[in-house]
Amino acid sequence: MNEHVHEAMDLTKNQSLVMGALTRSKGPLSAYTILDQLRDNGFRAPLQVYRALDKLVEFGLVHRLESLNAFVACRHPGCDGDNTIAFMICEKCGQVNEITDNALAKRLKQLAGDASFALKKTTIELRGICRTCQVA
Ligand SMILES: [Zn+2]
Ligand SMILES: [Zn+2]
Repeated sequence: MNEHVHEAMDLTKNQSLVMGALTRSKGPLSAYTILDQLRDNGFRAPLQVYRALDKLVEFGLVHRLESLNAFVACRHPGCDGDNTIAFMICEKCGQVNEITDNALAKRLKQLAGDASFALKKTTIELRGICRTCQVA
């Protein structure tokens, strides 16, 4: 379903370029790293990158990792952006894995509801060492 949304969406040139940089990257990228990569494509100011990122996040194509102040392309088909999203972030290699879990999402909604808290979105960031780095 995510693919259809992607196709139907008319991304601007800048949005496509930022999306491309994030899709090519193995790990999350900061806005400044994206700016550096796209200088040859006419990007001059951080604001241009931030504007594109804002929209891509809004579309659910990109997620923001608060603890890293960085952005990652959504690699989770069926992820609709405003649900509960969890990331496992390896502190050694910087690899980020996106996971979703319905039971976890349900429980958090319950807790918010119990506190009469109007929940908008949930982003959970798990920090640790990935399997590959544990072996190395
Ligand atoms: Zn996602
Ligand atoms: Zn790792």
